[in-house]
Amino acid sequence: MQHFPIFLRLAGRRVVVSGVGQAAVAKLRLLLKSDAEISVFGPDPDPQILAWHRESALRHDGRRVETGDLDNAALVYCASNVPSEDARVGALARRLRIPVNIVDNLEGSDFITPAIVDRDPVTVAIGTEGTAPVLARNLKAVIEAQLPISLGPLARIAQAFRNRCDSVPSGRMRRALWSEYFFRRGPRGYAREGRNGAREALRSLLDEAATATRPPGLVSFVGAGPGDPELLTLKARNRLHEADVVVHDRLVSAEVLELARREAECVCAGKTGYGPSWSQARINALLVHRAREGKHVIRLKSGDPAVFGRLDEEIKAMETASISWEVVPGITAAAGAAADMGASLTRRGRNSELRLITARDVDGFAEHDWAALARPGSVAAIYMGKRAAAFLRGRLLMRGAAPSTPITIVENASRQDKRIVATTLLGLPDALEEARLAGPVVLMLGVLPRAAMRSTETGFEVRREAV
Ligand code: SAH
Repeated sequence: MQHFPIFLRLAGRRVVVSGVGQAAVAKLRLLLKSDAEISVFGPDPDPQILAWHRESALRHDGRRVETGDLDNAALVYCASNVPSEDARVGALARRLRIPVNIVDNLEGSDFITPAIVDRDPVTVAIGTEGTAPVLARNLKAVIEAQLPISLGPLARIAQAFRNRCDSVPSGRMRRALWSEYFFRRGPRGYAREGRNGAREALRSLLDEAATATRPPGLVSFVGAGPGDPELLTLKARNRLHEADVVVHDRLVSAEVLELARREAECVCAGKTGYGPSWSQARINALLVHRAREGKHVIRLKSGDPAVFGRLDEEIKAMETASISWEVVPGITAAAGAAADMGASLTRRGRNSELRLITARDVDGFAEHDWAALARPGSVAAIYMGKRAAAFLRGRLLMRGAAPSTPITIVENASRQDKRIVATTLLGLPDALEEARLAGPVVLMLGVLPRAAMRSTETGFEVRREAV
């Protein structure tokens, strides 16, 4: 982000515009929405500027800007369309440390003006750092259509009721009140009887809140999917928007965490395969503690919460503490990896069974039904297998698996930095070593990515390469 968005207080400050043509008029239309005192300089002004001058909306002066004109100016716009004149005024302003915008000159400007959706006092500012004005215009149209025209008056009324609203317990109850007011009863009241109708709606919501009891806490065990935020379920997204507290594993991607409500308390409970992590008891205690405060706690787990996520233990802790809970499923790493590979995990005539196994359990490397896994055509997604390659290979070969059995290593499934390496059971330890994988990895036994398949009716030709 090269330009940081802020909202600047302009009441009692001056904004100086150098230039009187179309470019200046376009900027002035926006500036006139603010409380700034606006001074415009330049000969032969556009008739619109003269009209604004006559209405005292701004002051126009027919000469060029001089240093004394910039006293108490918060911003300077150079909109003369004459590069040398814009550069001269820009230099005057910079000497006084006043931020400058030179119209249509991103490099020469200290700040840029966003596209604006105006529901005063609610303002949405959209910026693309000058890269795609069309995109900004389209986004503006989308947002304009989303925000009710009454939003501005509704927000002013809310401001006037601020003291009374402070008496409603913060958290879920207050949020529910505001969302009911802004998006349901407020607009309905406003449509019926204008400001009075909206005021009445808020008053009755506050009366209802005064007699309501504080809602009990809730813990949602939510699947965050393998990393791509678009792979979240709609329900998971909604839970993240409602959250008071988010307790997440380290594998949950930053892009998914971005979607959590800004004000939510966000706690990383560790839990990568090998890094430091919180004890299960400590996590349970935190969930119980926050839920008892009446909070909506999101326990966000990578993939699906019911796959290698110790879900039962956490649910049991909630039940012991009599706390309500729910599970929101997610896309497990194996499904994400299969999608990246463009490969099916089951196939008629090859495998009618799919196993999800972990390479590690509480006692170290996990034992499995190796004979079944070693059978030709068997397919398994092996979680937490990065450091178990030699063990897996040893066990499978011992039980008669073909050394050429295909295995696909998928790192960072569904993420932008995903890597897919097709190899064989025999080559697995070397391939893992060579790939130097830093992200989470799932090993897909018995399947190859589409690009590495030379499928015949019977099998694969294996190439060891990154695809
Ligand atoms: N509940 C999770 C699994 C948690 S166990 C799920 O359903 O996916 C952690 C293991 O999941 C990691 O060691 C890795 O094997 C796998 N994993 C999680 N996210 C992954 C990703 N984006 N790409 C590859 N493997 C992943």
